[in-house]
Amino acid sequence: MPQKFDVLILGAGAAGLMCSAEAGKRGRRVAILERAERPGKKILISGGGRCNFTNIYSQPDNFISANEHFAKSALARYTPSDFVALVEKHHIPYHEKILGQLFCDRSASDITGMLESECRLAGVRIFLNSGIRETLRASEFVVRTEHAEFQAPALVVATGGLSIPKMGATSLGYDLARQFGLKIQQTKPALTPLALESGDRARYCDLAGVSAEVVVSAGSHSFRENMLITHRGLSGPAILQISSYWEKGNSIRIDLAPDRDLTRPIRDARVRNMAAARTAFQRLLSKRFATRWLDLHAPSDWSNQALAELERQAHEWTITPAGTEGYEKAEVTVGGVDTDELSSKTMESRKVPGLFFIGEVIDVTGHLGGHNFQWAWASAHAAAKAL
Ligand SMILES: Cc1cc2nc3c(=O)[nH]c(=O)nc-3n(C[C@H](O)[C@H](O)[C@H](O)COP(=O)(O)OP(=O)(O)OC[C@H]3O[C@@H](n4cnc5c(N)ncnc54)[C@H](O)[C@@H]3O)c2cc1C
Repeated sequence: MPQKFDVLILGAGAAGLMCSAEAGKRGRRVAILERAERPGKKILISGGGRCNFTNIYSQPDNFISANEHFAKSALARYTPSDFVALVEKHHIPYHEKILGQLFCDRSASDITGMLESECRLAGVRIFLNSGIRETLRASEFVVRTEHAEFQAPALVVATGGLSIPKMGATSLGYDLARQFGLKIQQTKPALTPLALESGDRARYCDLAGVSAEVVVSAGSHSFRENMLITHRGLSGPAILQISSYWEKGNSIRIDLAPDRDLTRPIRDARVRNMAAARTAFQRLLSKRFATRWLDLHAPSDWSNQALAELERQAHEWTITPAGTEGYEKAEVTVGGVDTDELSSKTMESRKVPGLFFIGEVIDVTGHLGGHNFQWAWASAHAAAKAL
């Protein structure tokens, strides 16, 4: 016998838990079906275990989508302050790290605990270890897992993106979208380190661990944050951010000393030589990187023109990465269910009434810094109001 509910939600991640709690509070009988053995596994590893659960400055500009307007309505109706109010209601201690990023003081399990408790209070049933076998639409939606069959007039797909397959990410959300005739925007790993091609790797990667504040650009997009050299390439917040915009085959540009004049002390020195150049560069860059950079970019002479060229190169380091580190290392997936297919107010499919998509499975991807969770909360909230 199928178990009957008002709403079936696939995936007990950030969006699924938030949506079920909100729909449950509105009196809906809600079941979440989750393939893992516990809810919110990605929340638990997020933000280095402290969960960067929102960003107080989050706004539509912080999101990437084929339709830049789609996210606006949901983001405006459930703001970072709304989520902070929930966190405070549960007496969860938190702090701002940098740039409006809010983290738990203790552990990300405070956030999963809060969401689970909201679900419990709202009477939501969570079925764990429930991988989805089959989903179809008869008079209502029917979902079959290995052990049971569920039925409801509304189905919410909250199965997330493809990043970190080890944590249980699957393509189910995209497969279901296709099954019901909805278009998908091409997916790719995002917020991921970039691998360098072998020549650059040989030139720089023995400096793994060296970091610098840089401005990194791809096309018209730029981020000013830290960059870190790794054993295979480049990482750190600046690189993760730009990876979301980078396309294979294209180059990225790195300003190694934003707003700084590296060569002025060389121009002013009594003797212009490599020793003066090293001293000048080491004032603004780490010693090892400064030395390596000058070895690889030694000026042809010490004329003003040659120094201007040395200055230009350091503000415009142009490299073509070999690739990203893939879904294994990506924090999110760019692309997903085409927003043209969904109502921006409710996240409901325009073609299939009763079918909703929320969270990362949609073609809306946040910048690093708490924006992805804010989208999960806001899109979940928008759907819950319509369930
Ligand atoms: C290492 C890491 C750190 C991150 N840190 C942050 C951060 O600090 N701040 C931030 O804003 N964002 C962060 N993110 C991104 C953020 O975790 C996601 O954007 C967010 O979790 C998306 O929420 P979601 O509910 O859409 O998907 P998820 O939270 O991924 O939830 C999807 C759920 O669906 C389940 N599922 C998948 N397939 C099936 C299936 N076939 N059957 C049943 N269930 C299924 C999964 O097991 C999972 O529980 C991080 C991501 C990673 C990987």
